[in-house]
Amino acid sequence: MTESSFLIDEYGTKSNMWSGFRSKGFLMLFLIYVIVFQCFIYYKDYQERYKWQELRSELESLVSEERDLYGLVNSIVKRLEAHNLFNKERRESAVKPTIYAITPTFARPVQKAELTRLSQTFLHVPNFHWIVVEDAATKTTLVTRFLEESGLIYTHLAAVTPPNYKLGRNDPNWKKPRGVEQRNAALRWLRENLRPTDRGVVFFADDDNTYSIKLFHEMEKIQRVGVWPVGLVGGLMVEKPICDNNTSKVIGFNAAWKPDRPFPLDMAGFAINLRLLLENKDAVFSYEVQGGYQESEILSQIVTRNELEPLADFCTKVYVWHTRTEPPQLNVEQLLIKKGKRSNVGIEV
Ligand code: UDP
Ligand code: MN
Repeated sequence: MTESSFLIDEYGTKSNMWSGFRSKGFLMLFLIYVIVFQCFIYYKDYQERYKWQELRSELESLVSEERDLYGLVNSIVKRLEAHNLFNKERRESAVKPTIYAITPTFARPVQKAELTRLSQTFLHVPNFHWIVVEDAATKTTLVTRFLEESGLIYTHLAAVTPPNYKLGRNDPNWKKPRGVEQRNAALRWLRENLRPTDRGVVFFADDDNTYSIKLFHEMEKIQRVGVWPVGLVGGLMVEKPICDNNTSKVIGFNAAWKPDRPFPLDMAGFAINLRLLLENKDAVFSYEVQGGYQESEILSQIVTRNELEPLADFCTKVYVWHTRTEPPQLNVEQLLIKKGKRSNVGIEV
């Protein structure tokens, strides 16, 4: 009894165990199935996402390659245009005015660096004629050699600023005008050497500014006097003429520094049709005007505000910056000079 009941019990326990085991087994199988199914779904999803990511990055790299290609083609076309290699351009260049850029310059450690930066911009401009006027009694070897090797069409002049008008070492900038003598010498040269039938535009390109070649394309449109914004000048990010888009006229200026000037513009903010300078033979720069009135002085002799032609996309683009070069620290050089051991013996800097 005990045995049989034991046996029975044992059997009963075993069958209970088995059925329990079976139902647990199903549960396990079900769970495994769910997990595998989820993993499968997740894997598929991951694959899908990976595929899209790959496709996306492929597309992105294609787009950026296309942009590079576009940039490259654009640069090649621009270079060919600049060198007049297209017939259309050749025809156009025959009627393009010559841009006469007048640059006063004076000897200082950064002079060759400034002239190099300018010349390498100007090399991109077809129909360009650089008038470099040294603030010196005679032309220097450095500038002479520099211009000879520049690859540009140029005229090299010298016109020294009278000592009483020369800015002292510690004088503030506004105290005396700079470039008066040199710009007037260039105007004299233009009047003596060009004829009324010559087509040209005259621009005053100081040696420390930064010029975009786009500016010179704008100048080609000038009938009388063209104006445009100048970056980093007069205490502002940009000083610019205000333009009425309906009439394409200049209706004001945003200048903050001496806004009451007849033409509150920077020297780099305008260019003049050569014809006007030849017609108005007496229009020159002068020492006898208030600080900051040089631009107004020359412009009021040849044009009215109403006649100004707004360029650079109706004065909405900056193509020239009134940058200034910090004088370099040469304190060690000073010590070497005293010892007669300059670092630049036999080497032009
Ligand atoms: N300049 C010059 N002699 C001088 C000082 C300046 O010929 O004693 C030139 C200078 O190289 C530049 C122009 O005159 O091309 C205007 O000078 P600067 O850039 O100092 O004037 P700012 O930017 O202060 O108006
Ligand atoms: Mn300057």
